[in-house]
Amino acid sequence: MIEKKELKIISFDVDGTLVDLEYNDLIWFKEIPELVAKKKKINFEKSLKFVHEEYTKLGEQNLNWYDINYWISYFGIEISPNEIFEKYEPQVKIYREVIPLLEELKKNFILIVITAMPREFLVPKMKKLEKYFKYSFSALSDFKELKNSEIYSKISKAINVHPEQILHVGDHWEFDYPAAQKAGMNAIYLDRSNTKKGNFVVNNLAEIKRVIRDKYNN
Ligand SMILES: [Mg+2]
Repeated sequence: MIEKKELKIISFDVDGTLVDLEYNDLIWFKEIPELVAKKKKINFEKSLKFVHEEYTKLGEQNLNWYDINYWISYFGIEISPNEIFEKYEPQVKIYREVIPLLEELKKNFILIVITAMPREFLVPKMKKLEKYFKYSFSALSDFKELKNSEIYSKISKAINVHPEQILHVGDHWEFDYPAAQKAGMNAIYLDRSNTKKGNFVVNNLAEIKRVIRDKYNN
C-alpha cells in the first residue's frame, strides 16, 4: 500500500474565490473610465468603451494588464493608486461561506493565499481575512509572473512543504487548476457558475470540506 502524504496546507486564490469581483470591477470599469472621461472630456459610456478596448488590446497574459500604475500613466490620469484602493475598500465583499469555512479549516491546516494580482490589491481585501492566513503570495509582486506551474513549485519550496501536501482552490480554470496540478499540488476548481462537474470541481467554497474528507481522509 502506498502511503499518502498527509495534507497540510490549504491554499486559496483571492478574487472570485474569497472575495467577489466587484471591488476589482469598480476600479477597472468605474473609477478608471470616470477619470479618463474627465481627462478626455468625453462622456462615461464613450470612455468605458475606450478603456475596455485598451484593456482587451493588451490582454490578460500581459503583466501590465494587472498593474494599476501602468494604466494610470498609460491614460495620463493623475491619481495615486492608494487613493483608489481606499475609496473602494468599503465595497470589498467576502463570500458568506468564507469566514465559517476558514474558522473550521484553521483547526487542522495551515492556510495560505496565492493571488495573481499585485500585492497592493491584496491589502484592502485581506483586512478581515489576514488573521487566518500564515502566508500570502502575489504571483506578480513576488515573482513577476502570472500564476503558472513554476510559481506554484516555487511557493511550495519557499514554505518548505511538499506539493502533494498542498491543496489549492481557485476559480480560474487555467491559472488555478491545471497550473497547480502540474506543480504536483492537489487542486480544486471552484466553479460558481455551476457549469463544470467533477470530483475536483465545487460550486460553493464550503463544498471543499467534502472533497477534503472524501479524498484525503482528513
Ligand atoms: Mg480568481
